[in-house]
Amino acid sequence: MMQPIHLFNTLSRKKELFTPLHPPLVGMYVCGPTVYGDPHLGHARPAITYDVLVRLFRSLGYKVRYVRNITDVGHLENDADEGEDKVAKKARLEQLEPMEVVQHYTLRFHEAMRLLNTLPPNIEPRASGHIIEQIELVKEILASGYAYESGGSVYFDVEAYDKKYHYGQLSGRVIEDLQSNTRALDGQSQKRAPLDFALWKQASPEHIMRWPSPWGEGFPGWHLECSAMSAKYLGDDFDIHGGGLDLLFPHHECEWAQNTAARGRGGVGYWMHNNLITINGQKMGKSLGNFITLEELFTGAHKLLTQPFSPMAIRFFILQAHYRSTLDFSNDALIAAEKGLKRLQSAAKAIVEIPVHPAAVAAPELQKYKEEVFNALCDDLNTPIALAHLFEVVRWVNTAIDKKETIHPDDRAALDTLLTSIPAEILGLCMKEQDASDEEALNGLMEMILETRAQAKARKDYAASDAIRNRLAALRIKIKDTKEGVSWERG
Ligand code: ZN
Repeated sequence: MMQPIHLFNTLSRKKELFTPLHPPLVGMYVCGPTVYGDPHLGHARPAITYDVLVRLFRSLGYKVRYVRNITDVGHLENDADEGEDKVAKKARLEQLEPMEVVQHYTLRFHEAMRLLNTLPPNIEPRASGHIIEQIELVKEILASGYAYESGGSVYFDVEAYDKKYHYGQLSGRVIEDLQSNTRALDGQSQKRAPLDFALWKQASPEHIMRWPSPWGEGFPGWHLECSAMSAKYLGDDFDIHGGGLDLLFPHHECEWAQNTAARGRGGVGYWMHNNLITINGQKMGKSLGNFITLEELFTGAHKLLTQPFSPMAIRFFILQAHYRSTLDFSNDALIAAEKGLKRLQSAAKAIVEIPVHPAAVAAPELQKYKEEVFNALCDDLNTPIALAHLFEVVRWVNTAIDKKETIHPDDRAALDTLLTSIPAEILGLCMKEQDASDEEALNGLMEMILETRAQAKARKDYAASDAIRNRLAALRIKIKDTKEGVSWERG
């Protein structure tokens, strides 16, 4: 029997017992990044949230098929039918092929995700690789009568859809409010009504990213890719669809409407949305000057930061808040997170200092802590409560060391699970402290090794000096002989 998991479902607006369609398989789709800029703090929260969910499922015996897309087509402002294509704009400004822009930022995103210790998705489909599937979906929606062609573009007919289904069902928006809050059409528009959104957009002559379609050359609307790719890899009905709260409307509402229009049902069992990160109480935005990329966080090169922060400190900071709460970022909050992580890591390292003896009295509370940690995680992924229980274990360890207590062998195993396996395997926190003393030791060792090599060279023992170089190369340490002496680097 697997431990039951409760998740908050945006669709029903309540916490529900999670029941997968095809246990033990969990089909999960998460909206991925748009790749026309450096990965930033806003990317870290959904990536880490759904990573912990995947790790939790797997630790409980589920098999997860985790699909996260790469948006590498179009992605216009707002409803995918206004403004300029951001990939194309970047390509034009930097005189690159659009796919060069996409490749560059996809690699940057992957590197940032690796540093944050997120597991890669099982499938990472790109919108540009699924144009055929998207065209097929447009045809289906046209055939059901919820879309219309206009001047080489195809639009979703929101009003017609709303008559049969309910547009706004997922986000809780009311169509009348949306209608009165949307600008009227300017007469130039090919749309029939302001709320209608593009499924397929005709490409203007200067538009670089374009594909042939039954309606002429063009490109898909932004919302379409996720409907098409989730169905392709997870089926028309799948378990979980996740993403940031900023995607709930219009992106996910439109996805839900597209699925329903094509197939008569939305097809997603549980919709999950992580809340957003604010910076010193403000929304993050380039215009506000508080936009922080992950690289700036890792190097400390930003005016809001006093120091670099390790990817693990950022991960810990994000896990300290429940994913459905807003999380306010500041330099001080990150310093506090860094300290918290160090306390956890130090306690994990200190476990071996507690002597073990078979005659020692076993501590039943350690088993209870383990249950509490899992209960918190299975209660809508409550990572702050899980961490609070782990810090009770930290105090337990510190007290045992202070009092020079002896523990039962079972307790040693329980402590290893609590402070090493659970943080590393489920929360994804690397538990080895990145100690300044490690770096010092390495520098000292390298100095010693290079001295030995210099001595070998001095006595013309080239076999020995080459052997040292080769052994180091195998450890990915490169040494360079220069006029000034010998230098070395890793990597
Ligand atoms: Zn999406």
